[in-house]
Amino acid sequence: MLKSFQIGCVTFKRYWSDSLFSIRIKVDNHPFNAGQFTKLGLFNSGEELIRRAYSIVNSPQDYQQTSELEFVIVTDLNGKLSPQLHLLEVGDPVYVGLEGAGYMVPTEIPDTASQLWLLSTGTGLGPFISMLTEVGFIERYQQVILVHAARFESDLTYKEVIEGLASRYPQLKYVPIVSREQVDGVMSGHIPDLIKNRELESAVGINLDFEKSFLYLCGNPAMVRSTSAVLQDRGYHKHLRRKAGHFSCENYW
Ligand SMILES: Cc1cc2nc3c(=O)[nH]c(=O)nc-3n(C[C@H](O)[C@H](O)[C@H](O)COP(=O)(O)OP(=O)(O)OC[C@H]3O[C@@H](n4cnc5c(N)ncnc54)[C@H](O)[C@@H]3O)c2cc1C
Repeated sequence: MLKSFQIGCVTFKRYWSDSLFSIRIKVDNHPFNAGQFTKLGLFNSGEELIRRAYSIVNSPQDYQQTSELEFVIVTDLNGKLSPQLHLLEVGDPVYVGLEGAGYMVPTEIPDTASQLWLLSTGTGLGPFISMLTEVGFIERYQQVILVHAARFESDLTYKEVIEGLASRYPQLKYVPIVSREQVDGVMSGHIPDLIKNRELESAVGINLDFEKSFLYLCGNPAMVRSTSAVLQDRGYHKHLRRKAGHFSCENYW
């Protein structure tokens, strides 16, 4: 058995499109905080363990009840691991890390923040679903704005879960954005541009606020880089563990 891994078992799969799926994996002991990631691994034909980081989509409470970790994964046909994960079936074994890792967690959000912006692209939505479904998380904020940008409408995963939460918690606003097609009721464009031209704020009717806003950015590094630059141009500071700021980022590659 490999030192930093345990063996899990696939219990559920859902395909959102040809190249996007959610998977649940049963593992007996995997402590984590909402928003964290773990490693998944499989041996390739050359007997090498290919391992990659994946954010956990379900909440720690859900894990306690089910002993399952949920992930949402995009299949990169040229990639080494994601095509193998795509082929896994219920009952198949998969290597899973021993515990959650990463600092994009609720406890890192400064206590002064009462307006939380969660900005994601693609599968970068996952850690935000984990936070939003954690009991008591949304109630901590006056306003929570969840932005999910994807290429196509079919990539807007977990829409029903989010809409269900938004109907229970009026302070939660959901903003789906697609960039490669026009969809009724869905914004089009890219996150950095929509912040730069203030269209995002007008669409939700909430303005970014120097005193009370905190932003988490997650997913595509180009979105993270350009959005960080737009925020810095507006005077917002990157959050550091030693010095509280306005925004913090997690890059997926
Ligand atoms: C902290 C962290 C959390 C992550 N969480 C997730 C997650 O929840 N879901 C997920 O699908 N991936 C996630 N990733 C990316 C994941 O670790 C792998 O890089 C990805 O699955 C590709 O692995 P691969 O071996 O198939 O491709 P590789 O051979 O490693 O090729 C990597 C290439 O795939 C592309 N790529 C990687 N990740 C993505 C992505 N998410 N969306 C679009 N293109 C991508 C990039 O072009 C990158 O250069 C995360 C990465 C990090 C660092």
